[in-house]
Amino acid sequence: MDLKKEAQENFITKIINEDNNTGKWGKRVHTRFPPEPNGYLHIGHAKSICLNFGIAKKYNGKCNLRFDDTNPLKEEVEYVESIIDDVKWLGFKWDGKPLYASDYFDKMFDYAVELIKQGNAYVCDLSSDEVRNQRGTLTKPGIESPFRNRSVSENLELFSRMRAGKFQDGEKTLRAKIDVQHSNLNMRDPVMYRILHAEHHRTGNTWCIYPMYDWAHGLEDSIENITHSICTLEFEDHRPLYDWYLNCLNAYHPQQIEFARLNLNYTIMSKRKLKRLVDEGHVDDWSDPRMPTISGLRRRGYTPESIKNFSDAIGVTKRDAIVDVAKLENSLREDLNKKAPRVMGVLEPIKVIITNYPDNEIEYLDAKNNPEDESAGKRKLAFSKEIFIDKNDFMEDPPKKFFRLSPGKEVRLKFAYYIVCENVIKDGNGEITEIHCSYDPNTKGGMSEDGRKVRGTLHWVSAQECIKAEVRLYDRLFMSDNPENNGDFIDDLNPESLSVIKKAKLEASLSTASTKTIYQFERTGYFIIDSKDSSVDNLIFNRAVSLRDSWARLNR
Ligand code: ATP
Ligand code: MG
Repeated sequence: MDLKKEAQENFITKIINEDNNTGKWGKRVHTRFPPEPNGYLHIGHAKSICLNFGIAKKYNGKCNLRFDDTNPLKEEVEYVESIIDDVKWLGFKWDGKPLYASDYFDKMFDYAVELIKQGNAYVCDLSSDEVRNQRGTLTKPGIESPFRNRSVSENLELFSRMRAGKFQDGEKTLRAKIDVQHSNLNMRDPVMYRILHAEHHRTGNTWCIYPMYDWAHGLEDSIENITHSICTLEFEDHRPLYDWYLNCLNAYHPQQIEFARLNLNYTIMSKRKLKRLVDEGHVDDWSDPRMPTISGLRRRGYTPESIKNFSDAIGVTKRDAIVDVAKLENSLREDLNKKAPRVMGVLEPIKVIITNYPDNEIEYLDAKNNPEDESAGKRKLAFSKEIFIDKNDFMEDPPKKFFRLSPGKEVRLKFAYYIVCENVIKDGNGEITEIHCSYDPNTKGGMSEDGRKVRGTLHWVSAQECIKAEVRLYDRLFMSDNPENNGDFIDDLNPESLSVIKKAKLEASLSTASTKTIYQFERTGYFIIDSKDSSVDNLIFNRAVSLRDSWARLNR
């Protein structure tokens, strides 16, 4: 086995290899990705998507996209649509149409009737508070419900009346009759159905009882002939219940396997909490480029490959850990470095006048589109007497190791010429308004004929031929590495997570920039046109990521 293949093996593929050897599933591999449509998907879900669809691909198996739509109070069509878009965007194809748990409500009801007939389920009149209070704790056994020993016929009668809408919300539940003293709290007569007079986005008002997750999920897997039901570690304690239901029903029985969920520092990863950020207006919407949602990452400029590579690189384990968000950012840099066309963009422009350059002349210099990829070719870049450079690239009174422009210093303008700063012009407040330089005509292309070296290379744009754009720079949405450590995560929001630069100057070729292309602005990072707010008259670019991990340098 070659090294790369070895690296792709993990404890789940080991289980599958073993199953294929013993013929447990007839060499079939069928996984599923089962989101509840109660929010947009986040990078944690991407991990699960890559894992489930990746395994299906690796073994020539199948993976279903299945909506676990069992709670009409929280679910919406908008979420269903966004989830379909996100999975497609990541580049995965599911087997057949998207599936819905709600399509199985009838079957689930019949299975519940079967459990009642077996004496394994009963209708209980306790309220949800009473059920909780009687459930006990890890050290205290639960108390049996006074309704636990109802006859089968009474249970059947009551359950069909529950379905027929004869009771109010919360008046009754259907519970599994297992063991209220069980060491695993999930096994203490868990609720299977609750009454909810709520309209469902697919089944409308057909149902007023809805199945609970543990009851529904195993049945969904069973009905779809899933072989390996992969979920996150918090469901490990639910596996005995998953198994109990399917064993009682003597139904087709997939194997549940748990892995550690993805956690990222500086990041909130829960749909419920992300929804709060949206609802309270702390971010634009679910696809705000600062959100860890797949749609947010997409709008920010992340590529599907960078997310898939990240997911592969962090691997699959049984141990919960927190991954450094810098790893995700680096995965994007690695991917874009290979494919992003280079352009010039000056974020904080200051004017430079090249005093010995002819007035009104424009020349077009060769500029490489991507030094990592010769096939990307070259383009022509306008150069003229007046150009813009970045404010940060000039200091009037620099410290010793400042290699960019300062009075008397020579630097290279990338692809253009060497220039020397001769003079600075200031306004009445002492603010620099212009920098006057001279250029050396014998350094065309940014190389000197006499082999003279300069330390600094600056990016620039021609003032005659450039366009204006808004640029949005993003910082982390939260200030501390664990935003939930000190009370409410809202208090940890970074007030500087977004900075807007209104008057950046970009090379003219970007006036026809493609909305699909992610560009490297030389020396400043990777940028993409904002898919929501940008227009022809008001060009807006998002910075996906800077060129280097500035945080790593700060923390050094
Ligand atoms: P959240 O807690 O963010 O609301 P969830 O687990 O409730 O997430 P589901 O819609 O139930 O969301 O998740 C669909 C699938 O994605 C599940 O199989 C779940 O285990 C997986 N998943 C969710 N969060 C993560 C994560 N952080 N890392 C890996 N897998 C995840
Ligand atoms: Mg959930």
